[in-house]
Amino acid sequence: MKKKIISGALAVLMGVMLIGCNAKTETTTKSANDDKLNIIVSIYPLKEFADKIGGDKVVVTCLVPENMEPHDYEPKTKDFETLTKSKVFIYNGLGMESWVDQVNETIKDKGVTIVDSSTGVDVRKEENAIDPHIWLSLKSAQIQSENIKNTLVKLDEKNKDYYEENYKKFKEELENLYNEYKPKFDRLNKKNFITGHAAFGYLCRDFGLTQKSVENLFAEGEPTPKQLEDLINFCKENNIKTIFSEALSSPKVSETLAKEVGAKVVPILTLESKEEGKDYIQVMRYNLDEIYSCLSKE
Ligand SMILES: [Zn+2]
Repeated sequence: MKKKIISGALAVLMGVMLIGCNAKTETTTKSANDDKLNIIVSIYPLKEFADKIGGDKVVVTCLVPENMEPHDYEPKTKDFETLTKSKVFIYNGLGMESWVDQVNETIKDKGVTIVDSSTGVDVRKEENAIDPHIWLSLKSAQIQSENIKNTLVKLDEKNKDYYEENYKKFKEELENLYNEYKPKFDRLNKKNFITGHAAFGYLCRDFGLTQKSVENLFAEGEPTPKQLEDLINFCKENNIKTIFSEALSSPKVSETLAKEVGAKVVPILTLESKEEGKDYIQVMRYNLDEIYSCLSKE
């Protein structure tokens, strides 16, 4: 009898505890979401950098839709609405977003912190145009990530240590990958490769390589017959046996070129949109590995 009363009381008590727990869980979830920093980034690699550093303290949304060539993107009315509701807008800079002045003008009085991720990067030019593809350099990606980290620390100081720690870990990953491939590329005799659009200038600068491209910096226009002829001659003179090609940019021209010079076409990844099943470090490792193994075999 005594036992039954006890178990009855225990059941009631447990019931109260369960209700208590449920109620608590709901409030926790709600306030946790409210607490998160709402970040909008322009292009995909910035989403990865912001997620790496912000972790579970942030919600990051990318403006340019998946599978869209960001050089072709223009913001829509709904994008402006999303932007004005966010806390932070991070863009690549250096002309990657031709529309960014218009966006910044619209959101600057709406309490949105605007971050140019390229601040402090040593800018390179190609044919007098500024090259915006800084995220494809492990060195520049580190500066972009540091700019993002500094913004998060400023806006959410109570989580400073968390952001600093995440940044430190990511920085180490970037440095380790660089240190792994730098000596390998230094030992190579062959340094030239052909790619789809001129996206790998910063990667080349990091590793002492040279790219020639089928399309220009902004993935505009297919080559003229004269330019194609120059590329064919370049490949023949340099005995180039690999043509790198991107999913979003002129794969047909790359195939034509490869056929003309007896080379094979190998995919290379610009990270201008999400690569299924690969994160930033994995994509960079893939690119470096493919470039290295092609150049070392040629
Ligand atoms: Zn590009």
